[in-house]
Amino acid sequence: MSEDRLPPLREVIAAHDLGAKKSFGQHFLLDLNLTRKIASLAGDMSDTAAIEIGPGPGGLTRGILEHGVKHLTVIEKDARFLGALGEIRTAYPGQMDIVEADALEVDEAGVLAPGRRVILSNLPYNVGTLLLIKWLEAKPLWWARAVLMFQREVADRIVARPGEKAYGRLAILAQSVCEARMGLKVPARAFTPPPKVDSAVVVLTPRPEAERFADLKALGIVTGSAFGQRRKTLRKSLAQAASKTTQNADELLESAGIDPGARAETVSIEAFQTLAQVWRKATRP
Ligand code: SAM
Repeated sequence: MSEDRLPPLREVIAAHDLGAKKSFGQHFLLDLNLTRKIASLAGDMSDTAAIEIGPGPGGLTRGILEHGVKHLTVIEKDARFLGALGEIRTAYPGQMDIVEADALEVDEAGVLAPGRRVILSNLPYNVGTLLLIKWLEAKPLWWARAVLMFQREVADRIVARPGEKAYGRLAILAQSVCEARMGLKVPARAFTPPPKVDSAVVVLTPRPEAERFADLKALGIVTGSAFGQRRKTLRKSLAQAASKTTQNADELLESAGIDPGARAETVSIEAFQTLAQVWRKATRP
């Protein structure tokens, strides 16, 4: 028995016959010390309505509940886990809701209890970045913090700063909305079964509304184009995005105060935001 009086996760998995399915991106965290540590990255949750995506057999779920969350809603697509999750809900009466759904289609703000809202997830690798973009683009931005596990390489791309190897579209989109920091590095061997690569938990905290960049669609298009050919100068790599406007790449870059001979990785996040605004204004009707 653990602190929550539920049986060890290995027993839960055996009792409910919950073998990991590759097609659902399933790699489980069975060490409750580790999941408690991940949950603690969300800060004090005594007044928090949290949402967990992809609880699986419930390792992180139990970490979040033990950490002392006010209310937790879990979204799981694979119905095989509902029995095991139901047992956790019984151990925490009135504190947990289970939603069987695809997280990409859920209106999170609609299913969550009121209060400070936090997202936690050991994300399925195949949908992780799609969900992140969905949460960054949410209007109004309904969450106060996100504590998200990604493959290490994706986590590096979210927190990277200009000039770093991993700096690109994802860092610029994420950091235009949030402060992003590396919370915890998690080796592949911490999972059952172990994936091929290491993972890491990223902590995202939205900036005050006035400091957030609103037009993420335009920012996604210019950064996608600029970093699509990262070895080329912006004059060349931006041609694709420029083709949707009435101006050429040189004109767009000069209006944004960016040297057309520069490479994308040297340009600041703020300069890309200005470029996105210039691009939006010049877009063909
Ligand atoms: N949170 C558990 C843990 O840490 O042990 C399981 C993590 S496992 C990497 C990912 C989980 O996400 C699986 O339970 C999987 O069924 C679920 N999942 C995959 N795609 C999903 C989706 N689109 N919506 C909701 N859950 C999904």
